[in-house]
Amino acid sequence: MQHIDESGGYGKNTVKKGSVYIRTIGCQMNTRDSEVVKGLLSVEGYEMTDDPKKADVVLFNTCSVRDHAEQRVWSGIGLLSRKKNRPLIGILGCMAQNFKQEIFQRARAVDLVCGPAEIDNIALYLEEALKKQDKVLAVDERRRREEIYHTGFYDKRNHAYIVVSEGCDNYCSYCVVPYVRGRLRHRPAEEIVREAQAAVDAGITSITLLGQNVSAYLTEDRVCGFPALLEKVAKVKGLKSLSFITSHPKDTKKELFEAMRDIPVVRKYLHMPAQSGSDRVLAMMNRGYTAKIYRELVDLYRSIVYNGELSSDFIVGFPTESEEDFRATHELVKGVRFDSAFIFKYSARPHTKAAELPDDVPQGTKKRRHAELLELQKSISQSLKHAKTA
Ligand code: SF4
Repeated sequence: MQHIDESGGYGKNTVKKGSVYIRTIGCQMNTRDSEVVKGLLSVEGYEMTDDPKKADVVLFNTCSVRDHAEQRVWSGIGLLSRKKNRPLIGILGCMAQNFKQEIFQRARAVDLVCGPAEIDNIALYLEEALKKQDKVLAVDERRRREEIYHTGFYDKRNHAYIVVSEGCDNYCSYCVVPYVRGRLRHRPAEEIVREAQAAVDAGITSITLLGQNVSAYLTEDRVCGFPALLEKVAKVKGLKSLSFITSHPKDTKKELFEAMRDIPVVRKYLHMPAQSGSDRVLAMMNRGYTAKIYRELVDLYRSIVYNGELSSDFIVGFPTESEEDFRATHELVKGVRFDSAFIFKYSARPHTKAAELPDDVPQGTKKRRHAELLELQKSISQSLKHAKTA
């Protein structure tokens, strides 16, 4: 495969633009970041392909929140690097930020490492990697340029993810996000509305607003919080459905529930991760609420948003989690009756506070608790679904 044209010079027209395959692993923020990258590279003349076998460039945009996601990337790189004419390989996103230079040492086939704050310059970095056929590392922590959200590129024809904020300030003790995505930064409300309007003008009728914690959204002048932002976006003519994720319980207030009740296009769905039902574990996780506070919030939500759906995340096997702690989580799931829940086994993430603690819950115990909670949630989800369709 030839990456460089004969002139060998630097500039927009000097490098052969090949086809690019992006593999996204992780959350919706990553999905949106991949769309942004696709939009930026398309504008520069690259072709996007769904077939990694035909790609000149393979980019992994990978979450670092769970060890499992990273393991999938290491093995994906291994497979690619054994190919005779291997493509240029890049790692983007949280994993890039988490491992930085170390990626080149662990996987010599990787040519480009680009952190989440740097994706606005992805075309430049890719061109550099193609031209030099040398390693490119871009992991500065800074604010992304606003324009990157306005390429109009969305994977789906009828749905758009729109980012409202980047980063997170919460420092939950198990979570790597504040270290890899940086401090919390909010996009201006008018830019979010502008993007929503453009998406709807292009025929999209369903939008999901994205942030690690949308409930903390606040414009720089402190005038527009998240309920007011929902109102503004809901006014976009032609929009039929407006959703949002994720809501941290400590920042989620009555006003949000009232907005969900009062704005017709807002979907009555709240994703509000509880993570644990044990107050001791919640304190160790630095979540800023107790199980009682969480339950009260759920009661308030259900009293305001009639028939509102509720989903959550849980981590089992957090360091020192006892059987009693797990039972408290089990009780919370049983009592609240979530429509759905994502349940994960704890794995230590580098840089985090929790990683300093011994990962002392045996794998077998984690597995058993995970299966038990999954089974409970499955039966609750099925019975709620059945009741709704009966
Ligand atoms: S709220 Fe906590 S779990 Fe969510 S991204 Fe921020 S630090 Fe991570």
